[in-house]
Amino acid sequence: MLANLRIPGPTACPPDVLDSLSGQMINHRGPEFAALIERVTDRLRPFLATDNDILILTCSGSGVMEAAIVNTLSPSDKVLSISIGAFGDRFGQIAETYGAEVTGFSVEWGQAADPAAIAAAVAEGDYDAVLLTHNETSTGVTNPLEALCAAIHVADAKPLILVDAVSSAGCIPVEPDAWGIDVLVTGSQKGWQVPPGLSFAVVGPRAWDAYENSTMPRFYFDFGKAREMLAKGQTPYTPAVSILYGLDVALERMALEGPEATFARHHRIAERCRRGLEALGLALFADRGVVSDTVTAVKVPDGVAGADLSRLLNQKYDTVIAGGQAALAGKVFRIGHLGWVEDAHIDDAVEAVGSALAELGYAIPART
Ligand SMILES: *Cc1c(COP(=O)(O)O)cnc(C)c1O
Repeated sequence: MLANLRIPGPTACPPDVLDSLSGQMINHRGPEFAALIERVTDRLRPFLATDNDILILTCSGSGVMEAAIVNTLSPSDKVLSISIGAFGDRFGQIAETYGAEVTGFSVEWGQAADPAAIAAAVAEGDYDAVLLTHNETSTGVTNPLEALCAAIHVADAKPLILVDAVSSAGCIPVEPDAWGIDVLVTGSQKGWQVPPGLSFAVVGPRAWDAYENSTMPRFYFDFGKAREMLAKGQTPYTPAVSILYGLDVALERMALEGPEATFARHHRIAERCRRGLEALGLALFADRGVVSDTVTAVKVPDGVAGADLSRLLNQKYDTVIAGGQAALAGKVFRIGHLGWVEDAHIDDAVEAVGSALAELGYAIPART
């Protein structure tokens, strides 16, 4: 039996996507590849709600986050890094690594960033760029991205807005053009129903202006080269061809379902997951008002060791959950519900969590 893989990425892929991965290689400088990359780029567009450039890179989410930084910024640029968890911290660290002057704005884990507080922070600093996480996978929180972007746009300095939407895009609505996001990045293995290996960057006009003046070192992750080659139906370097086969099939499925229905499915299933866990007497880690529709973080109940829960679920219940990251190790467990996810996947996972917890001595409250 295949395990119920309920981590927030890499996520399980539909059978027809898996089948497509074993297709024979093609010439990545030939007409078949040009048709393929054009088709998938077109089909990404409605899910990313953009008329701007969509670049497809071969790397994981962290790679495309690095690309967003090195293509738009210069060393000693002033950057406000708004972090609500482990991935927000990572974004700031990348900018710092390349010599940006990073000011951290950390929000208590489990909460979202407050637009008014962000407006005030941006007004104070004369920043060149603001880094934001749309959906913080480590805490199960979705930031109010539209309101945060609006708050940032009020500032005189008009900083660039770079957004990590790795675990939200494709599942939760995100509108880079309408919300004024200059670079938005996401990764294939989260919400896109395909394995790890590809990432996507939506690059807007202000980001291209910044690219012209940016002096951070870059070679592999050069957006300009990617745009130039895309116009010829190619990528600068050999892409993950097999993952593109998978993406082609996944996006065909997603096009049939449509963006609105896909987003609605994620919301409905997330709510089903949250209710199911709460019915077990468990507490969500995130504030109820900002909970994520792609990943649920749950407090490990007193008297239970998070590692024991994960092990028992894996060994006895064929259910694979994620533990807590960084400071949350052992304190929370996380269930992913993004990409290819149906009600039964979540009902099974919640039931397994209940059984495993009972076996570990946790008293499930009686239903009232
Ligand atoms: C998964 C993830 C990333 C990138 O992780 P990779 O392992 O490099 O793909 C970045 N940000 C968020 C919010 C994520 O969930």
